[in-house]
Amino acid sequence: MSERPFDHVSAVVDGAGFHHMHRLDLLMCLYKRVYEFGPDSGKPCPITVHMDSRLTALQQTADGVTARLSNGQTAVGDVLVGADGINSVTLALAWPDPRPRRWTEVTCFRGLIPRADVAALRKPDGSPLDNIPADSFSMDRHKTDTSAVTTYWVRGGKLLNVWIAHYEPDATVFEQEEGDWFPVGNDEVVRQVCEAFAVSPNRDDLVALAGAIVRPTKWGLYDRDALDSWVQGRDCLLGDAAHPMLPTFGQSVAKF
Ligand SMILES: Cc1cc2nc3c(=O)[nH]c(=O)nc-3n(C[C@H](O)[C@H](O)[C@H](O)COP(=O)(O)OP(=O)(O)OC[C@H]3O[C@@H](n4cnc5c(N)ncnc54)[C@H](O)[C@@H]3O)c2cc1C
Repeated sequence: MSERPFDHVSAVVDGAGFHHMHRLDLLMCLYKRVYEFGPDSGKPCPITVHMDSRLTALQQTADGVTARLSNGQTAVGDVLVGADGINSVTLALAWPDPRPRRWTEVTCFRGLIPRADVAALRKPDGSPLDNIPADSFSMDRHKTDTSAVTTYWVRGGKLLNVWIAHYEPDATVFEQEEGDWFPVGNDEVVRQVCEAFAVSPNRDDLVALAGAIVRPTKWGLYDRDALDSWVQGRDCLLGDAAHPMLPTFGQSVAKF
């Protein structure tokens, strides 16, 4: 649990070595840092930030690489680093064998619960939970053969992150226009948890959590077979564009 940004001495200071952080908080740290050096700051900086502009085309020459953006602008540089995620346009444009993404046969529900709501949670029969996450500062995990629930605190203990994974061989719903994720109702999350943990002693606790998630979303998890190279001349890939990561053990943050 952390209220401060990651830094390279985190483990030295508190010995924990592993911090849970709200993705939005991480993105805001990065955003503020960029903003401090952005063109509006007046500070001398070679970085130009192009907002609201998607990469649409790439051209390499002996002298440099030119990126064309959806707003009609172009950006020219010595190298291009494509950190544009699992559906990377950089990969599609510049790699001779981009390889399609691969369905992992796992879906997950995700969402957050405010601390006060967690403290007030009750089982469906009105009795208190057996395991009250509000009392815990660690990551809790519950598993069956086909499902897993993980909870941990983010934003300094103000929000409980809930992650419910499930085996699902059919990817049809994620191959539509909506993409890899979409909002779902709590009733769907509760139904899934009820079925998956039907014989688990933790079932009622988990059902209570499932019902309390604020604006839950459902995600399809994809992977990609390893590429032969993350570099093509002046273009290279970073992050999920190079090697998609699944939501376990905070690997994604660690790789940067
Ligand atoms: C459901 C789920 C839960 C996860 N949970 C965790 C977790 O708890 N902890 C953890 O460490 N990791 C987690 N991961 C993995 C983590 O989300 C990714 O590994 C990480 O987000 C990859 O970061 P990235 O910057 O490479 O790509 P992304 O986060 O996908 O960012 C890519 C960016 O590129 C932009 N982009 C796309 N196309 C273009 C274009 N043409 N032009 C310009 N920009 C473009 C996108 O808008 C986006 O902003 C989870 C993954 C999933 C699917």
